[in-house]
Amino acid sequence: MHNQIDLTLKPEFVQQIQNGYPLLMKEYFEDWSKLQEEGSLLHLYDKKKRFIAKGYYGLQNKGHGWILSRKEDEKIDREFFIRTIKEAFAYRKEFFDDTQTTAFRVFNGEGDGIGGLSIDYFEGYYLFTWYSIGIYTFKENILEAFKQSIDFKGIYQKKRFNSKGMYLDDKSDFVCGQEAPQPLHVKENGATFAIYLDDGAMVGVFLDQREVRKAIRDKYAKGKTVLNTFSYTGAFSVFAALGGAKSTTSVDLAKRSLPKTQEQFRINNIDLQKQNIIVEDVFLYFKYAVRKKLLFDMVVVDPPSFARSKKHTFSANKDYVKLLKEVIQITNKGGIIVASTNAANFSMMTFGRFIDKAFKDLKIKYKVLERYSLPKDFRVAKKFQEGDYLKVVFIKKLS
Ligand code: SAH
Repeated sequence: MHNQIDLTLKPEFVQQIQNGYPLLMKEYFEDWSKLQEEGSLLHLYDKKKRFIAKGYYGLQNKGHGWILSRKEDEKIDREFFIRTIKEAFAYRKEFFDDTQTTAFRVFNGEGDGIGGLSIDYFEGYYLFTWYSIGIYTFKENILEAFKQSIDFKGIYQKKRFNSKGMYLDDKSDFVCGQEAPQPLHVKENGATFAIYLDDGAMVGVFLDQREVRKAIRDKYAKGKTVLNTFSYTGAFSVFAALGGAKSTTSVDLAKRSLPKTQEQFRINNIDLQKQNIIVEDVFLYFKYAVRKKLLFDMVVVDPPSFARSKKHTFSANKDYVKLLKEVIQITNKGGIIVASTNAANFSMMTFGRFIDKAFKDLKIKYKVLERYSLPKDFRVAKKFQEGDYLKVVFIKKLS
């Protein structure tokens, strides 16, 4: 059983919660010191003791908990989770009907009504990601609700708790059902990805970039020399090669990126001869490229929001302009830059300003060709636009 705590909202936060804002912060409450155990069910009232909403306490970097319901008589029980899960699956019917794509998100946190939990689909297998100890305390109920509602081959999980909050009960990522092959081959718009569900933090591909990869393959790559920076397993390079790129160069600091990228090329029957895979700090590679006067027809740049390497600390918010300037200098005139960020702490508009500043500082003209944010399966809550963290801009370098 989850203990229940009644909390009083400060007047200035009542309306925002009533209007649909899903995230809770300690500062919203008069009596937040009552919050102790993560997973507690929270009943929120205004000062006149009128019911406003209910939610749970769970610590994430984003905040301190999430709203689950605005109905006083709605219980947070097995039936609640069944309803919520079924609704999320119904919303994605078109994805299940598409035989060319077998990897997508089926439950996206607060966008689907339960902040702190995401569920991804990989060819019959499901991956649950728990973002706080608080949501993890609901695991049994949520899993039971899932099993009652959905047919599946197997279930895996990742726990993304804050540093202290490790539960030691389950060491493997495998939860139940059949174990998936390692790797599991999934499809995305007809291409193949190797996925490792039981391999620690990341499984091999970021599903939120699906539409960007498709655009690169179908509209941009043909005949181009492509540089893919912060390339991870080379997903953008694979789509560029499938779209007829003349060559691809993938650069990532992590040693694992070399075999992982080779594997993704191989399972798509792409000739490895024309693909360069370089394990190096991107910032050093830029220096090398400038020295060698290398120029590319298309450069993809998709850095982490924050990263620390031996020589560099990179934060998208502070350093994106500088990064873009390096990229612009090694892009051919008339070439395309695909500038991407998953930083939730600035908007598409601010990102546009970063892009503008980088080009203006270099006195180079450009044209924005198109913009992408999260695809439909990464459902965003109407009143929580900061949930739409992805920003990708296709830019043409003009002069
Ligand atoms: N673009 C990738 C995802 C990038 S994830 C995709 O679409 O799949 C971020 C990657 O940046 C990680 O693989 C990490 O190893 C790499 N990285 C972080 N700092 C780096 C640096 N300074 N130089 C090169 N790679 C870096």
